[in-house]
Formats: sequence, structure tokens, C-alpha cells
Amino acid sequence: MKAVRFHQHGGLDVLQYEDAPDPELRPGHVLVRVRACALNHLDLWQRRGLERVTIPMPHISGADVSGEIAVIGAGVTEYQVGERVMLQPGLSCGRCTRCLEGADNYCARYDVLGYQSAGGYAELVSVPAVNVIRLPEAIDFVTAAAFPLSFLTAWHMLLGRARLTERDTVLVLAAGSGVGQAAVQIAKVFRARVIATVGHPDKLERAKALGADAVLDHAHDDVVAAVKKLTAGRGVDVVVEHVGVATWERSVRCLARGGRLVTCGATTGHDAKLDLRHLFARQLSLLGSYMGGKPELLRAADLLFRGEIQPAVDRTLPLSEAAQAQRLLESGAQFGKIVLTT
Ligand SMILES: [Zn+2]
Repeated sequence: MKAVRFHQHGGLDVLQYEDAPDPELRPGHVLVRVRACALNHLDLWQRRGLERVTIPMPHISGADVSGEIAVIGAGVTEYQVGERVMLQPGLSCGRCTRCLEGADNYCARYDVLGYQSAGGYAELVSVPAVNVIRLPEAIDFVTAAAFPLSFLTAWHMLLGRARLTERDTVLVLAAGSGVGQAAVQIAKVFRARVIATVGHPDKLERAKALGADAVLDHAHDDVVAAVKKLTAGRGVDVVVEHVGVATWERSVRCLARGGRLVTCGATTGHDAKLDLRHLFARQLSLLGSYMGGKPELLRAADLLFRGEIQPAVDRTLPLSEAAQAQRLLESGAQFGKIVLTT
């Protein structure tokens, strides 16, 4: 098959579009003919290399995959060749207490497709049959690939961790990012009030079109003052954080008394400061969040299939242009997901 691999960590130039062996078909697995694979920031971290994480080489990234069932492994009876599917990106043992509770993202053996396993920057990918989600006819491959990781992550942040209610006002940072555009839409489905930020004036209208009630330009507006003004001095109940050190102190200051800050990433750096007086005196909760459980993705997928939420897609590029696609993601100029097609 053709795949985009890297043989060592480094810059965009380590990504090579080349021939690679077809994935091995294991019992209980299926091979999926990839039609679309969306990018995530995780792909960039893998390529650059991470402390304390060994990425197997040569490596194929790609957690967000849609395509058709191509080959069915021993013991898999519920699928047929040619069925249109998208993939749940979380891999786990399937047998421990947390897995059986539906909290598989807490499994000691949890992994993300394309992280320490081979992912979807390829014509074929092997996954456990339990990771397969059938697609209705109305959902195209690009939409399906753009959906899972962002919406799973945002769902777990807002509902699993921050326990969102319709009484809440939510501040979503970087509404043009994968998690941001998903969080705005999920918060609106659950009838919360949403204040979003964007990094460029061009993105203001697109964030409003996703349903945000107010949109701030975080490059030009005083976000803390604007949030206070929009909430009559009170602050927001929930902040959806994933930017990290560049926004962290401001995010904490935007919280109302009893507010919850939930974070799933640190794109601009992880060495953030916290004034503990804010934490105890204002009774704040700081919540970490990583991916989400399979039931959460299936609930989000129901809303996708009913047309109530829709991933924002910035553009599609052919698989052979994965390096250019990652360059675009690094630039931060996109609004929504960048998707590779094969
Ligand atoms: Zn487990």
C-alpha cells in the first residue's frame, strides 16, 4: 500500500509518501480501506518526538479515519466487505473495570490509533472490530473523518468532566480549532450560553455560524474584560482550555466563583502558573481531560447522524500532501479540520 511514514523524528521533511507493507490482519480485527483521515495536533507531537513516549518506527500517524471494510479477520461476524464506516480512535484492553464501565480512556492500556500503533495516513489500516462505527448513506467520508477525535474530546470535556448544564455560560478558546469548533456545537446542543474566542478577525463570522452567542478576537480584545462585561461581572461557569501557557492565567481569571476549567492540551506550552488564592477563595475546579469513552462517541455520533452537529472542515488534501497539510495545521490559519483523502 501507499502510506505517509516517518523513519525518524523531525520537521515536516521527515514525512515520506512511500510504499509500505499492508497491515497485518489479526483475529478480531478488520482492515479498512482508508478514504479520508483528519489531522490532529497529536500527529505533530508524534513527528517532533515526545519525552517519555517511544513511537515505533517507521511510523504511520492518523487517529481520525473513515473508509470501507476491505478484509475481515477471524471471529468477526457483524461486518461485510464494502460497508462504509468511521473509526473510534481509542484502543484499550476491553476487559478491565474501566473499559467495561465505558470509561475506556481511563484504561491502563489505553492508546490512540496512530499513536503507538499504525494509523490512517495510509491506504489501509487495521483496527479491532469493536472500533468500527457504521456510517449512514448521508454522511460523506470527509465529514466522518473530521468527526471522531475532536467531538469525542469535546464531549468528554464538557459533559464527562465539567458536567455542563443549560444554566452554564461556557468560554471556548480557539473556536477554529478541532476541539474548539466541536465544543461550541456540543455546548449549544445542550443549551448552554457560549462565548468563543478566535485568533483572527476572519474567523469571527464562522464561529458565530457554529452557534456561538458572542465571539472575541483573542489577538485584539481584552478577553478577561470582555468576558466580565458579557457576564455582568460574574465570569463564566466553564472554560474549555487546550491552548496552554499562552492563555492559562487569563482563562483562570475568566471563571466565576465555583467555575470549572477543563483542559485537554497545551499547544503553546505546559509550564503554566496558578495563583492558589484564586483556586481556593473562588472555589474553582481544574479538570484534566483526555479523549473520551466509547459510549460518549456513540452519543455524539447520534447527533451527527441526525444532522444536529457537523464538523467544520477547512480543506481536504490528497494523502501525498500530508507534509503540506501538517504545515497548515502548524500555522494555525485553518478554521476546522484538515482532512487527507486517498
Ligand atoms: Zn481496559
